[in-house]
Amino acid sequence: MELRLDVPGRVQHLAGQHYVVRLTAEDGYTAQRSYSVASPPGDPLVELFVERLDDGEVSTFLADVVEPGDRLEVRGPIGGWFVWDGERPALLVGGGTGVVPLVAMLRTARELGRTDLLRIAVSTRTLAELPYADELLDSGALVVTTREPRGVRPAGRLTPADLVPLWEPGRTAYVCGSTGFAEAASQLLLELGTPAADVRVERFGASG
Ligand SMILES: Cc1cc2nc3c(=O)[nH]c(=O)nc-3n(C[C@H](O)[C@H](O)[C@H](O)COP(=O)(O)OP(=O)(O)OC[C@H]3O[C@@H](n4cnc5c(N)ncnc54)[C@H](O)[C@@H]3O)c2cc1C
Repeated sequence: MELRLDVPGRVQHLAGQHYVVRLTAEDGYTAQRSYSVASPPGDPLVELFVERLDDGEVSTFLADVVEPGDRLEVRGPIGGWFVWDGERPALLVGGGTGVVPLVAMLRTARELGRTDLLRIAVSTRTLAELPYADELLDSGALVVTTREPRGVRPAGRLTPADLVPLWEPGRTAYVCGSTGFAEAASQLLLELGTPAADVRVERFGASG
């Protein structure tokens, strides 16, 4: 689900950065988690996309309990490495909810009139589970589904053949998703000859 936050006096973020949301219970117990920003810097609000995990402590609270008008404690923007400057050609590779910071990059490129700089490949279990699916498809992103066929393509993961036409020297790759996805996708890129220094990775946590 999308959360759009009005953050008073905020520092403008860069595409790829995240915020930390901290919840505090009445007894003083706190829990905090990171959420990538989906909105571009020019958006007056900070948009987060939270995937609800059934046994998740913070994501269930954000998805089920928080209502418009509530106040949340947030810290950010955070992150200096997994950011896109809006100038360098980039290949964005996302798995599941890992597309969120990549959507911020896409939206930033649109604000700058530079969508030509980006190529996007994403992997999701099903199209219905992919955040911002319509926006990604409209941008021309390659979308592969691992649990259902898509057109003539059977269910399956991203392959080297998917990425070969999308990467070229001088292009920085931004890989984001679960730990398992991030490892697999960055390995694919390295096997294609992408220099390790041109692969930037953000891991969201569990193996997914
Ligand atoms: C830099 C960064 C950016 C992130 N951006 C986003 C974002 O944009 N949107 C988003 O939804 N999440 C994002 N995450 C993940 C988020 O911080 C939480 O880990 C996630 O919401 C789960 O928290 P929880 O309290 O609900 O679950 P927890 O109570 O921490 O965990 C509940 C169960 O889910 C498993 N689990 C924990 N994390 C994940 C995960 N990421 N995927 C699958 N299973 C998991 C645990 O092993 C456990 O079994 C990001 C993480 C990082 C580090």
